[in-house]
Amino acid sequence: MTVQPKGSHFINGAYVEDTAGDAIPVVFAATGETLATLHAGTPAIIDQALTAAAAAQREWATWSPRERGRVLTRAAQIMRERNEDLSQLETLDTGKPIQETRVADATSGADALEYFGGLAGSLTGEHIPLGEDWVYTVREPLGVCVGIGAWNYPTQIACWKAAPALACGNAMVFKPSETTPLCALKVAEILIEAGLPKGVFNVVQGMGQTGAQLVTDPRVDKVSLTGSPATGKKVYAAAAAEMKHVTMELGGKSPMIVFDDADIENAVGGAILGNFYSSGQICSNGTRVFVHKSIKEKFLARLAERTSQAVIGDPREDETSIGPMVSEAQMNIVLGYLDKGKAEGARLICGGTRLDRDGFYIAPTVFADVTDDMTIAREEIFGPVMAVLDFDDEAEVIARANDTPYGLAAGVFTKDISRAHRVIGQLQAGSCFINSYNDAPVEAPFGGVKASGVGRENSKQAIEHYSQMKSVYVRMGDVEAPF
Ligand code: NAD
Repeated sequence: MTVQPKGSHFINGAYVEDTAGDAIPVVFAATGETLATLHAGTPAIIDQALTAAAAAQREWATWSPRERGRVLTRAAQIMRERNEDLSQLETLDTGKPIQETRVADATSGADALEYFGGLAGSLTGEHIPLGEDWVYTVREPLGVCVGIGAWNYPTQIACWKAAPALACGNAMVFKPSETTPLCALKVAEILIEAGLPKGVFNVVQGMGQTGAQLVTDPRVDKVSLTGSPATGKKVYAAAAAEMKHVTMELGGKSPMIVFDDADIENAVGGAILGNFYSSGQICSNGTRVFVHKSIKEKFLARLAERTSQAVIGDPREDETSIGPMVSEAQMNIVLGYLDKGKAEGARLICGGTRLDRDGFYIAPTVFADVTDDMTIAREEIFGPVMAVLDFDDEAEVIARANDTPYGLAAGVFTKDISRAHRVIGQLQAGSCFINSYNDAPVEAPFGGVKASGVGRENSKQAIEHYSQMKSVYVRMGDVEAPF
């Protein structure tokens, strides 16, 4: 099996290599075997990518928006046709089960390319009448955008950033996470095949240092980061120093509230999806599951029963529903939280250990009787670890749910529609769910409040974050100056 790309980087329409950069091994998380070795971008590579992007952007911005959109929709079509190959690569890059990658990665990347491709032709300014005079506004691109990705959804993240950026006439230099460097290269290849002019979308590999060099380069006008809140603060500060635009998609510790009238099967299903999909490595996960005291034991019993049916195994097998953690480092972080949960007195319902097999596997874990002050209720774990907390009444659970620095997502399970909307209305979160969890259609804005981020991805909202308005005052009469 070889997944070694023709070069580490993709710049100006072609693969490029510079072995002087630090080695980046691509490790298959299910076995620990090294599948490929790439190299981090050197200053020369970064310069090459930004020079190409700046030159290509000037030309790309002159295309009619509908023609730009046509390239994106063609790329979406190619991605769908190659879904099986792309899904297999995503599984090797991340360790996520093939049954997930077939439906959630290249497909959602294609959704974004298709959506913003379709939207491109409708991106306009407006006419503002002022009596005899008038103002017109022009929607202009920002210029060169830098995208920086996390490792959990490498194809999706590259497309969620590239699609709106390119639709608006920007160019992009995308730096994938060093843990999952392969998939974005395929996105770049497909965009070129679809007719994107070379240099409009480039991929540069590297660790945080490469990301920091990109963010601070004066040729860069905007930075969109998907990553941890700690990295977000650093990148936001660096961008602010040069007054650059930012989008920050960061982490969370989101609440999911299950009222006593909820459909238990659906609530358990939501909790499973919102904690164990992708081995729990999803930013919007509902990792604090507040369950009404009166149904707590029933909920836990059914949750344990359904979790025992998970098929933990090789992510390349069709039936596998839980794969490994993305890396040994991430597995060790999660093991640390399992120890803390046990030491601080949470009741272990299931899981709680590493699996005795090759690769970086952690059993899906449920802790009950978790209290608000426990570490596993306060910090983002980013692994298959669910904390179940009890509550008695609505006002109490809303206050506790909001008692976190984060605000990415929130969910409510209840059959009472008034309560559902009343509670959601008071929860401090950007992406909310009623009797569901973790849906992220491209048509809806996605992003966080508080420490979970700035700006929104997806939907028409993303256009606001990749373009700016020029307003032009037109005087029809004479200029009246005082002297
Ligand atoms: P991370 O913050 O460690 O890394 C994210 C990216 O930032 C990587 O590409 C990394 O190389 C780069 N980076 C690190 N330091 C940098 C610096 N100083 N300047 C520029 N770039 C730098 O995050 P991770 O471990 O890859 O991903 C997990 C985190 O991402 C979690 O907190 C998770 O919640 C969050 N996440 C958020 C979303 C979302 O859409 N809100 C989606 C996925 C993941």
